[in-house]
Amino acid sequence: MKFNEVLDDIVSYEAGKPIELVVRDFGIKSKDVVKLASNENPYGCSPKVQAAVTMVIGNMALYPDDSMMHLKTALSQKFDVNENEIIVGAGSDQVIELAIHAKVSKGSKVLMNSITFAMYEIYAKQVGAEIVRTTSREHDLEEFYALYLEHKPEIIFICTPNNPTGDAIDANELKAFLDKIDSETLVLVDGAYMEYTRYKDESKSVTPKELVDAYDNVLYLGTFSKAYGLGGMRVGYGIARADIIKAFYKLRPPFNITTLTLEAATVALDDEAFVQDCIAKSFAEMDRYKEFAVKHNIEMIESFTNFVTLVFGENRSASKLAKELLERGMIVRDLKSYGLNAIRVTIGTPAQNDRFFELADSLL
Ligand SMILES: *Cc1c(COP(=O)(O)O)cnc(C)c1O
Repeated sequence: MKFNEVLDDIVSYEAGKPIELVVRDFGIKSKDVVKLASNENPYGCSPKVQAAVTMVIGNMALYPDDSMMHLKTALSQKFDVNENEIIVGAGSDQVIELAIHAKVSKGSKVLMNSITFAMYEIYAKQVGAEIVRTTSREHDLEEFYALYLEHKPEIIFICTPNNPTGDAIDANELKAFLDKIDSETLVLVDGAYMEYTRYKDESKSVTPKELVDAYDNVLYLGTFSKAYGLGGMRVGYGIARADIIKAFYKLRPPFNITTLTLEAATVALDDEAFVQDCIAKSFAEMDRYKEFAVKHNIEMIESFTNFVTLVFGENRSASKLAKELLERGMIVRDLKSYGLNAIRVTIGTPAQNDRFFELADSLL
């Protein structure tokens, strides 16, 4: 069958291999599989969430509150922005999709880093956009600016801290860059891991409020899938000036967030102490990955997130290690499809990390 021609150029998103398939393909017991591939919070979510979700479980017949009153109020209080400056998506992924549909059409251009979150390209290609990329591994805002002048993209994607490399942009440099961009160009600042960055280095952290107050063309993205431990619930948000959010609302599918998810996110947002505790544990464990990298002479990119990116030298294959780990029930992310001889490993619990070091030490 012939399909829309834009599909010819799209490679489907490759999600981290789910535990279910490792159990099936390698005959490993589910309790022995460790998944450090998708940057989820290994400690789960706030214990208060489970209790709250149980309370609404009897209420599944009715459609969810499509105004998302409780969650929007909680987000607006947390970030000190107006409710009409917020949109909630089924994952921040859905907000990326809305942004692209709102701004981009066939033949228009979008600008992104050479190596960055794969969904920007996939959603942009779905509407026939042309992808312009920088060349350097980390975000180089001078190169971004030169390409912006040359190509006049509809959207500029800035992922800070960046996935899958973990590096983050200095906040003042980011603002100096944003100052130079015209107000017709939408700049999407994806802060999926910003909670980690804020904890580690304030100078690299930006808040949605400071962006929205200063810029009429910036969309900040946040998610509950990482630090908040709700990857299984699919919920994220976009924060921007009201006219941008209003445009996105024309594209949003109705009832895009389930009742259970709305409740979980609202309660999770209220337990900041839990999240901060998980972040502290994650960075404490990250030091062990540094030692591991030094011991094996592997480059570890300095990370402002809950994962580390280990870049191998030419004489060793990161893909081979990823595959051998997988066969032993340890799921990490091979970054070959990003053009890197590297693996990305989510910082797990101490026991999960023990297992990673034990296996990787024996394989390297
Ligand atoms: C995980 C991630 C997202 C989106 O996650 P959702 O689960 O869709 O909210 C967006 N951007 C980056 C960079 C991510 O790593």
